[in-house]
Amino acid sequence: MNTASISGLVLAGGRGTRMGHVDKGLQAFGGSTMAAHVLERLRPQVAKVAINANQNLDAYGAFGVPVWPDDTPGFAGPLAGLEAGLRRCETPFLLTAPCDSPFLPADLAARLYAGLQEADADLALAVTEENGLRQPHPVFCLVKADKAEVLSRYLAAGGRRMDGWYPQLKVAEVLFEDAAAFRNINTRDELQSLDPARPARLADVVSCLSSYDPDALPVRDAQKIIRDFVAPVRSTEQVALRAALGRVLAADIVSTINVPAHDNSAMDGFALRGADLPADAPARLRVIDTVYAGRASSAVPGPGECVRIMTGGVMPAGCDSVVPQEFVTEADGIVSIAAGTIRPGDNRRFAGEDLKAGSAALRKGKIVRPADLGLLASLGVAEVPVQRRLRVAFFSTGDELRSIGQPLDEGCVYDSNRYTIYGMLTRLGCEIIDMGVVRDDPQALENALREACENADAIITSGGVSVGAADYTKQIMARLGDVTFWKIGMRPGRPLAFGRIQSNGSSAFLFGLPGNPVAVMVSFYFFAREALLRMMGAEAPLELVKARSVAGIRKKPGRTEYQRGVLSRGEDGLPELRITGSQGSGILRSMSEANCMVVLHDEQGSVQAGEMVDVLLFEGLI
Ligand code: AMP
Ligand code: MG
Repeated sequence: MNTASISGLVLAGGRGTRMGHVDKGLQAFGGSTMAAHVLERLRPQVAKVAINANQNLDAYGAFGVPVWPDDTPGFAGPLAGLEAGLRRCETPFLLTAPCDSPFLPADLAARLYAGLQEADADLALAVTEENGLRQPHPVFCLVKADKAEVLSRYLAAGGRRMDGWYPQLKVAEVLFEDAAAFRNINTRDELQSLDPARPARLADVVSCLSSYDPDALPVRDAQKIIRDFVAPVRSTEQVALRAALGRVLAADIVSTINVPAHDNSAMDGFALRGADLPADAPARLRVIDTVYAGRASSAVPGPGECVRIMTGGVMPAGCDSVVPQEFVTEADGIVSIAAGTIRPGDNRRFAGEDLKAGSAALRKGKIVRPADLGLLASLGVAEVPVQRRLRVAFFSTGDELRSIGQPLDEGCVYDSNRYTIYGMLTRLGCEIIDMGVVRDDPQALENALREACENADAIITSGGVSVGAADYTKQIMARLGDVTFWKIGMRPGRPLAFGRIQSNGSSAFLFGLPGNPVAVMVSFYFFAREALLRMMGAEAPLELVKARSVAGIRKKPGRTEYQRGVLSRGEDGLPELRITGSQGSGILRSMSEANCMVVLHDEQGSVQAGEMVDVLLFEGLI
């Protein structure tokens, strides 16, 4: 088969009536969208691909392929999509597949093409046999592009049936054995049940662990369950370059140009031909022109000649080396270069050295940093596709909590978690919904959780999940969805609630952190942070570094301990670590004084002075 002669068209122009008038192609499926799946299955089978769509053209455009709306308005049936495709098709054949058929055969093009050729037909369509009945699939068809006029006349005359124009064509049917490959997804239920990446239940995720005890769960297992359970939010937007700082790239950024565009000089000096330099004698070269950065020169130095060049200046034809000006003497338009001053090829930057045209400059999932902004600017990129900000709602629970501005009644404390959580979420780049303090009252808690669930992608609560706490926090969380309560083998921060809750058709991931102010931060950094980043479409695991502990640290094997520490430069210039004073889980001051956290893993016992330990630095942590 000749792939080059076929274009592929994904038909996504329909109204999605049975799915509740949604844009079917853009529905989440298998970790991306239905249309993206069909596109990826078609792509290797054809020379080029395009999409037929009549709404959300920008979203389809983000796939990076042409988007063709119907030419025949007010119809939005597949035949109008086929017409739009045939009219724009630049190859002799067009292959169509609907956007809701993500399982289409990998040999669809090859077999339809063979069938069409064999029958010398104008159109080949797929058929399957189910229970002895022949089932045609006219939306999976290969058509000669020069039949566009025939189809347009049929549509203009009011024809709407998919096979209504067949009498004017020679049609071949090609039998496919695997009927399931042509399955299309029409309803929300089908979408849910057929989605290979459908959100699992916690019980399914947990069952993958070799042993599972919610009352003695190792940190690693809790992290794994959370990682496997959360799913990225599939929603992207296009933002101006500067606004992309700190955001997560939603697509690979492919360079359309070479950076730099030309071979150029890395120095202020003289461009010359390396071959003109004698190996063991000085060279004298006549300066014939000057090249400034950003300006090309038409000078072509001959033997014994050179060109004065500024850093960034385009290398003149024939030149392959630059001698820096400080290494030469110049008089009367002649430069003298001592033997061995440079080697041929020195101080020349090659075109595309930074980035080659067609290569990925930045990968999807990267969090954009200042250097990335610069890199994108060097490519001339003005707008960047990014994931939409993750919406995270949070509140503190506890009757003893007072908000700033309220009198501190006896036995009460100010709500500090609200502020640490605010800080940590803001640094992550989340859109926050700050819900303040919620009383230890079943109705108030249920209302708050429902409101959070209906407005956010994730919810973070603090307090109320420990053993002593009033039970109804847990009861209500459990009642609203798939939530589990753990006692984790760690200190501080043993209790943790995790899962997903639902309210009025919305759902959100829930992290019920403990109430103690230090435990809140530890649980956030070691459980919630990575999960939230994953939901944002970014992969940014915590980076631990090694440092020498100045003193011994007491530690029991069998649980993970997080101690607050100060990392500084030791006398030998290498990093060394000191534990901050009191390590009580409520003592926020120790957290504030620390610049890092020491991670003492499950299997580890006491640490001797001078031993290396794992450290999480706070600075640089988003
Ligand atoms: P709980 O997990 O609700 O039993 O809370 C454990 C401890 O953390 C109690 O001493 C609470 O007073 C304290 N605590 C809970 N939430 C907060 C908060 N938002 N700010 C400061 N302390 C808190
Ligand atoms: Mg409480």
